[in-house]
Amino acid sequence: MTDAPLKLFNSLTRSLEEFQPVHPGEARVYSCGPTVYNYPHIGNMRAYVFADVLGRTLSFKGYKLTHVINITDVGHLTDDADAGEDKMEKMAKERAQSIWDIAAHYTEAYWADIKALNIRQPAEWSIATKYVPAMIDFAKSIADKHCYELDSGLYFDVATVADYGRLARAHTEEGEGRIEAVEGKRNAADFAIWRKTPEGEKRQMEWDSPWGRGAPGWHLECSVMSGQILGFPFDIHTGGIDHREIHHPNEIAQNQAFCCTNGLDVPKNSGANVWMHNNFLVERSGKMSKSSGEFLRLQLLIDKGYHPLAYRMMCLQAHYRSELEFSWEGLGAALTRLKRMVIAVGQLKERLPDPPPSGEVAARSADGGGAAGASVSSDHTPSDDPAGRHLPRGGRIEAFLDRFDAAVSDDLNTAVALTVFDEVLALKKVDAGEKLAALAAMDAVLGLGLLDLDRAELRLRPKTATITEAEIEAVIARRKEARAAKDFAASDALRDELAAQGVEVMDGDPLGWEWKLGD
Ligand code: AMP
Ligand code: ZN
Repeated sequence: MTDAPLKLFNSLTRSLEEFQPVHPGEARVYSCGPTVYNYPHIGNMRAYVFADVLGRTLSFKGYKLTHVINITDVGHLTDDADAGEDKMEKMAKERAQSIWDIAAHYTEAYWADIKALNIRQPAEWSIATKYVPAMIDFAKSIADKHCYELDSGLYFDVATVADYGRLARAHTEEGEGRIEAVEGKRNAADFAIWRKTPEGEKRQMEWDSPWGRGAPGWHLECSVMSGQILGFPFDIHTGGIDHREIHHPNEIAQNQAFCCTNGLDVPKNSGANVWMHNNFLVERSGKMSKSSGEFLRLQLLIDKGYHPLAYRMMCLQAHYRSELEFSWEGLGAALTRLKRMVIAVGQLKERLPDPPPSGEVAARSADGGGAAGASVSSDHTPSDDPAGRHLPRGGRIEAFLDRFDAAVSDDLNTAVALTVFDEVLALKKVDAGEKLAALAAMDAVLGLGLLDLDRAELRLRPKTATITEAEIEAVIARRKEARAAKDFAASDALRDELAAQGVEVMDGDPLGWEWKLGD
């Protein structure tokens, strides 16, 4: 284990706390996953980049990581506060398709983004519909003391547990405005843990239960899957900051009902010791909304010629608890930084006789993860050989590794960690092998694949481009000949010819790129 104490911001106590694992040497983490009724937008993916950096940091610090991310394929209503329609049922109706097909399609799309962003495979993708019997058992065990039945379902009475809403710092009365009234609810914040199918209706997804045919509530899913797989209390529960307001307080209330009903001044009574939330990625013109036509999917960035890891870089340059504003200029700057790093690492690799260590290989093997896109991997063997143990020790590099360690241990300060990476890259008169080993150890946390990427891979072809790379290269070659012959008129004409097809010629580009395709 590396030296700096790992400090993480716990939303429950609103303070930085030194990480104390429940099981010595282990870290068990649950992340709220996507509702698979549509493609994820890049804001959603920020939540998983954050959870991935957290997992990689825990591995780097020497903990055996067990990470679970769920896939919500039932139960999430159009309004988090327990109102509206089931998002999955709604989309299925609109498209006249089966919910199962919709869930399968968007789960695959989400996994493709996970892979493109170098997010490691969790130990388990827990799929909500596979846990419905366990959800019914959980609900049965708390129903008598904590729930009551209405025509529309089984409701959780939030007054039956201590400190309801502490995570959100909201009192039940203050919360009233945000919750749609359901006739007969005892408290405004009470929520359905089982939703009965209305009389005369048939849902595509419904199950028998002691409270009639119906479907589980969204909050119930996460309590059941996290508790069953990781055991209460586990170490860390993550999600986007919106979940701090309703979803996680409701999960916590259920967990209290299940385990103890006691107050939250002892964080473990909430089911997890630490609750962590990433802030939002925002975009001024509203393109983050999935309802707008061209919404910001990772594929849109790729179609416009931005490598997906430029988006990961953009996330890492900000602190996960700060709001991050998306702009194409910002993404372009992140791509330039990525290119610069890849070129510098490439030059370093050329100085080595043998193949260099691979950061990504180290990072993947750290958690026994396989190729992204696989479904549940049950043969997970957590790491007992984390990257942190292989840090080169002694010499000039050690001080930089200590600073890197201090940065990521300071509530995942990736922005500072990136600058340390840059400083190591710029070090003069250090053995290339030693330098690459240090860079590999750092990249195992950053997850940018810096040791594996080739500069040519970073140039993506925008989807709208009609001219091929070979055609561009042919014109560039003719232009070089014209310039060599000092025929500047011909050279300018060729540049204009390329410009007309969206190709910008980059004379004197410091990174050595000769041209780029605009979007
Ligand atoms: P959902 O699929 O809506 O349940 O969201 C998946 C994850 O993305 C959750 O952890 C949300 O809190 C998170 N999230 C939603 N919108 C954003 C955003 N704009 N920026 C960052 N995280 C977000
Ligand atoms: Zn959840």
